[in-house]
Amino acid sequence: MISFEKIRKTFAEGENPVFEEFSEYIDEGEFVILTGKSGSGKSTLIKMLLKETEPDGGRIMVDGRDLSEIKPGEIPFYRRGLGVIFQDFRLFDEYTVFGNLEVTLNLTGGSGKDKEKRITDILKLLGIDRLHKRYPGELSGGEKQKVCMARAIINDPKIVLADEPTGNLDPGSSREIFRLLELIHRHGTTVLMATHDYDTAGALIKEGRRVSLDK
Ligand code: ADP
Ligand code: MG
Repeated sequence: MISFEKIRKTFAEGENPVFEEFSEYIDEGEFVILTGKSGSGKSTLIKMLLKETEPDGGRIMVDGRDLSEIKPGEIPFYRRGLGVIFQDFRLFDEYTVFGNLEVTLNLTGGSGKDKEKRITDILKLLGIDRLHKRYPGELSGGEKQKVCMARAIINDPKIVLADEPTGNLDPGSSREIFRLLELIHRHGTTVLMATHDYDTAGALIKEGRRVSLDK
């Protein structure tokens, strides 16, 4: 589903490379837990999958597509096929929970009635349907991250990418987020999650495969 083939990446001349001939293969339906000390390249790897940054060499394939062949104009469409969860949430503060999901769904079309049901179903799946009229400012960090997860899966992506999804959360909320990611994974989604908290994640995500970027 995802392959990194001999990836090289250095940000600035004279700096140590972040990746030298890095290769890794992620099968459809896998849950990969990406670990490594701060600065080891976890976020860079996820940004390369999102085409927010480019490798200097090597090839990245996602669901059969060579990312270097995606033209700039196609990038928004390509990104819509991925579910993404960030440490800092990135919700629209001026929209309700429901509104945040609606905005995402509107980008991909679908009819009104179906949309409402789709949003309600996802909110129920993640156990947050009671929050649908709230604004992000009225939610705890854990609740915000669940809304982000709902947003990430609303378009039924084959792949979910999560970069330190529990980085701003307390231990209890972190466990809930890991469990929900496992739930998403059980629906057949391929998940790549970067985390500094392997002890908790590895204990909860039974089928997780650890990939460490530490040398
Ligand atoms: P991690 O997420 O594992 O903490 P990052 O992928 O954020 O690591 O960073 C890997 C390395 O690349 C670090 O040394 C970081 O300073 C460097 N780096 C990341 N992004 C940039 C950038 N936009 N410009 C320059 N250096 C960067
Ligand atoms: Mg990072």
